[in-house]
Amino acid sequence: MPESKVKELVVISGKGGTGKTSLTASFAVLADSPVLADCDVDAADLHLILAPRVRERNEFRCGNEAVIRSSDCTRCGKCLELCRFGAIVRGGDEEPYAVDPVACEGCGVCVRFCPVQAIDFPESLSGEWMVSETRCGPMVHARLGVAAENSGKLVSTVRREARRLAEENGSCLVIVDGPPGIGCPVIASMTGTSQALVVTEPTVSGEHDLERVLKLARHFDIPAWVCVNKWDLNPAIAERIEALALRAGAKIAGRIRYDRGVTLAQMQEKAVVETDAPSADDIRCVWESLGL
Ligand code: SF4
Ligand code: SF4
Repeated sequence: MPESKVKELVVISGKGGTGKTSLTASFAVLADSPVLADCDVDAADLHLILAPRVRERNEFRCGNEAVIRSSDCTRCGKCLELCRFGAIVRGGDEEPYAVDPVACEGCGVCVRFCPVQAIDFPESLSGEWMVSETRCGPMVHARLGVAAENSGKLVSTVRREARRLAEENGSCLVIVDGPPGIGCPVIASMTGTSQALVVTEPTVSGEHDLERVLKLARHFDIPAWVCVNKWDLNPAIAERIEALALRAGAKIAGRIRYDRGVTLAQMQEKAVVETDAPSADDIRCVWESLGL
């Protein structure tokens, strides 16, 4: 198979609220015909700035869920006895035993041991993913269902579809708004990407979070850049963070000043670089450093 020419930039942070999404939206404006992927599936908010028009919705199915066929159930109570998650509930005469879909962990024990095979085990609906149009290009985004897990798999789905779209459209770049933290969804958003930009703030916890994310990037052998947002709130820690980043093998993409204009831009559903906020220049410099 020929090697794909599509590059992928994932924007991540050790925790939420560092300005990651706001930066991603500005990159979407500055890039030349990108495809966008919102992989922050637990708290997607890139759409708040880019106002996508949904053109395609797809169900996201993951795991299984037990469903009792009351007409075949002999009311033996075996499933109630065996379910360790308290997901089998007693009902009335018409439906003596039923499964609570929120509590069901999809372990399949009841399905296996029901003496009359009265329990179905279909794949469960865990959310949806959408393909939309935005003013900056197509965007793939998703919504995880209430109490649904496996956001890592949904992240992989969003990335795969964004990449497919980029190849189809002849676009050279996918910009991914990654999930915060260092858990499974972050790993799913980073593996195999061309480069990662870690956005951090000049605080002690920001420093600690950065260390963990950079460790992850090194583990997966992903070239990492670091950008300190609101650096002027604590220049000493900003400097320390940059030194730490360099020691960890990352490159410095630049600094972004604290700017109330960021909130104003969000209120107007604009990316910062679409306004005359002072930090727009800093963001442009960071974008230039990435060389994409
Ligand atoms: S184990 Fe099967 S037959 Fe027994 S109560 Fe449960 S669903 Fe009904
Ligand atoms: S699949 Fe597992 S968790 Fe779900 S109802 Fe059956 S035994 Fe309980």
